[in-house]
Amino acid sequence: MKPGPTVQVPTREDPWEMALRQFNRAADHLPLKRGIREFLVYPHRELTVNFPVHMDDGSVRVFTGYRVHHSTVLGPTKGGIRYSTHVNLNEVRALAMWMSWKCALMHLPYGGAKGGVAVEPKQLSRGELERLTRRFATEISVVVGPQSDIPAPDVGTNDQIMAWIMDTYSMHRGHSVPAVVTGKPVSIGGSAGRREATAARTRKFALEGAQVVVQGFGNVGSVAAYLLHDQGCRIVGLSDVYSGIFNPAGLDPRAVLEYVAQTGRVEGFPGTQTVTNTELLELPCDILVPAAIEGQITRANAAQIKAKIIVEGANGPTTPDADDILTDRGVFVVPDILANAGGVIVSYFEWVQDLSSLFWTEEEINARLEPIMVQAFKGVVRLAAEREVDLRTSALIYAVRRVADALLVRGIYP
Ligand code: NAD
Repeated sequence: MKPGPTVQVPTREDPWEMALRQFNRAADHLPLKRGIREFLVYPHRELTVNFPVHMDDGSVRVFTGYRVHHSTVLGPTKGGIRYSTHVNLNEVRALAMWMSWKCALMHLPYGGAKGGVAVEPKQLSRGELERLTRRFATEISVVVGPQSDIPAPDVGTNDQIMAWIMDTYSMHRGHSVPAVVTGKPVSIGGSAGRREATAARTRKFALEGAQVVVQGFGNVGSVAAYLLHDQGCRIVGLSDVYSGIFNPAGLDPRAVLEYVAQTGRVEGFPGTQTVTNTELLELPCDILVPAAIEGQITRANAAQIKAKIIVEGANGPTTPDADDILTDRGVFVVPDILANAGGVIVSYFEWVQDLSSLFWTEEEINARLEPIMVQAFKGVVRLAAEREVDLRTSALIYAVRRVADALLVRGIYP
């Protein structure tokens, strides 16, 4: 195990509390019986695993991981796997619930799930990371499968980790099962266009010369930054977990990516001023894309945010108190379950392609992605006007209603 730099992460609002408050706001608009409302909100199943891993120095270390199935009403469950020291059951529960609503909003035949391991992956060697992943994949294989629960990447995981999960599951079965996980490399059944998909719809908001700040320069944030840059936006600020960089004249995100590949962080990129993550969120800009983790825009900083548009690349970046402040200030917030749904939609396409062993071109992927996103967006905007609510509450009303309707049609077993 490699020693890593200490990262100061401020105490965040509990994501599960946030998810419950958001749900309650939406559910109050729906005529749900008490028991149905309770069943909709609580996770259906939760698995906690403590498992050992051989470290390079000969020691054995025990790690804790989770896999939560929030809702199984609309189909098999779908959701990412996160590797981060801050992973805990309440975080995974919240992320699983948000996946249920995102899939329902996008009319995907999935319930929501999420998983994670409390670990800092950057401190592990490649061998340690592979052994941890293969053991965790084995531990959760009791609840994961191509017809039951299909993981994908999230914070701290990537296509290589998905490849190890796919291989581990396949080894246990004795044959290749590519559909058990999405976000895989294309060479083993991954889909064209998935990397870009999570951030792709931000293009709708791209304005020539608009100033953009992106928090979190990972899978989602880096793609959002270069797609917006390609659309003529000026990327003035970027950050990672360590710190942020600011240049009012604009940054080239691809050059920053190359710099990060060499140095491991954005700080020190030539021509930039270093800022903290707190300062970054309050920089002058037109569009703010939080693409790191939950609970970043809170009642403590919502009034200081200069952006007129917030496009949530991350899941749960804005707390309910912050939502109220932003709504009062007329800031246009495109909520996570709408803004970043491209990733799970193309994950769904990947799963369909793996199950049918028939692969589509990137053009076909994009042609299928566009109408799903546009339909959801229009539906959410229409409902928001009808109910006089913000876009998040509208998106949640829409999604919760879909799951509730399906639950009532299926009935309560037995
Ligand atoms: P990632 O690990 O690739 O990147 C995360 C980035 O955020 C990194 O730059 C990291 O340094 C930074 N970061 C982490 N903790 C931070 C903190 N406390 N403060 C500031 N920065 C921090 O992760 P990702 O896959 O890009 O996911 C980012 C967000 O997008 C998460 O909320 C995730 O749930 C959501 N998301 C991911 C996908 C996907 O397909 N990967 C899809 C939809 C939504």
